[in-house]
Amino acid sequence: MGKNYSIMNIGSFQKDLAIKRRVMAGQELGLTGCEISFNHMPAGKANPFIHKHKLNEEVYIIVSGKGVFMIDGEEFAVQEGSVIRVAPAGERILKAGTEDMVYICIQAQNNSLTQATADDGVISELKASWR
Ligand code: ZN
Repeated sequence: MGKNYSIMNIGSFQKDLAIKRRVMAGQELGLTGCEISFNHMPAGKANPFIHKHKLNEEVYIIVSGKGVFMIDGEEFAVQEGSVIRVAPAGERILKAGTEDMVYICIQAQNNSLTQATADDGVISELKASWR
């Protein structure tokens, strides 16, 4: 029986990710319900194209920096702490401002979540070393 978890380390968002630019987690972690990318966008740079999706919604989490998001022709400022959900049909592009921007993008099939965590969680009898 395989382990019930997988782990990866992408290093420092500010240093290591700045070199790699984009790290995808799906394959390395064996994700089955979503894809997660960790992104470092240099100051003044933008995504190479405007895109939308066929099936997947995306959640963008701005970890650091500031930038401008354009969705369906509407532009708005984003910064550290901004969390933006984009429906599959939303035509989107993200641009970093005057400083580098780090963001996480989580992609999952639209309408695939059929229940919430509170109903899905089951309390375990297992003991941890610190309890
Ligand atoms: Zn996308």
